[in-house]
Amino acid sequence: MDRPDMTFQRAPLVDTFGRQITYLRLSVTDRCDLRCVYCMKAKPTFLPKADLLSLEELTSVCDSFIARGVTKIRLTGGEPLVRKDILSLIDTLGARIGRSGLEELCLTTNATQLPRYAPALADAGIRRVNISLDTLDPQTFSTLTRGGRLEQTLAGIRAAKDAGLKVKLNAVAMQGVNDRQLPALIEWAHGEGHDVTLIEVMPIGEVGVDRADQFLSLARLRETFETRWTLTDLPDNTGGPARYVRVGQTGGRLGFISPLTGNFCDTCNRVRLTCTGKLYMCLGRNGAVDLREALRSGGPDALDAMLDTAMRQKAHGHDFDVSRGAQAAVPRDMATTGG
Ligand code: SAM
Ligand code: SF4
Repeated sequence: MDRPDMTFQRAPLVDTFGRQITYLRLSVTDRCDLRCVYCMKAKPTFLPKADLLSLEELTSVCDSFIARGVTKIRLTGGEPLVRKDILSLIDTLGARIGRSGLEELCLTTNATQLPRYAPALADAGIRRVNISLDTLDPQTFSTLTRGGRLEQTLAGIRAAKDAGLKVKLNAVAMQGVNDRQLPALIEWAHGEGHDVTLIEVMPIGEVGVDRADQFLSLARLRETFETRWTLTDLPDNTGGPARYVRVGQTGGRLGFISPLTGNFCDTCNRVRLTCTGKLYMCLGRNGAVDLREALRSGGPDALDAMLDTAMRQKAHGHDFDVSRGAQAAVPRDMATTGG
């Protein structure tokens, strides 16, 4: 199913609030080699492999989105690099960059597989990777990831840099867990030339712990940073949820993603596809359409029609409220939806 020269032919995807969808986040697997405490249970039940979109289906879905004006695709998961055939998908999509309306292919990863894959990702046309790293303390890292080795992730970050990939680090800020370790992480990352984005814990999926215990307001964290550093607001806005500052003392960029204490929905330009083909129009809402069913029963035309249905269903904003404690805003976890 190779349609690399398909040009931007069809009506753009615009929702009922006039927001154009140009960004697709695609979860290619719900599996992962780590078990981060905010993301999944210690013993998750993974989906049967047969339920996952095949490589051909993933390609077909991406082509349909590109034809409707999507210019950026991010592969995520689960851990995208543990899917066996992932390099083949990356090569196929990489070949679309600049030829079909697709401008950027990028990846969110925990970096464990990057020592092996970073050069191939760069060869395929990937220029930027987001890497999750919540602490530089080996013991906290092991606790947070339930058994991960910090050294392996650091080796992956080094491999990405050596391959010429631009690295941005994502850290989930957690009360009493890694909050005090964040300044050291930020200073190290900026010294290495990596931007850092801090993320508030979102009440997504039942992970067996109370979200209210994990939650730390980034507004409060920012205040503590201001006693240490000079922070200057930056105008950068990628259409996404992050708000950026420049840290005077390091010269680096620091982003804050605050879904609970700051609202970012007005400029939302994205949708999320699960590894089983469910298209969620909002990370914090339950509404979804089934693209796998549309594709399997009616082919690319049915899929295309389903995208219009999806646009009519996209809600204006999310419904997160951490005061609900252990209760998740949405029952599916991040690894299934794609963080
Ligand atoms: N495995 C890859 C990784 O960790 O980067 C990609 C998938 S992971 C689900 C994507 C991002 O979601 C990570 O940066 C992770 O920290 C974040 N994440 C997972 N669960 C979260 C939650 N409940 N609240 C906020 N961020 C979360
Ligand atoms: Fe795996 Fe990423 Fe979830 Fe951590 S955040 S368990 S690395 S999918």
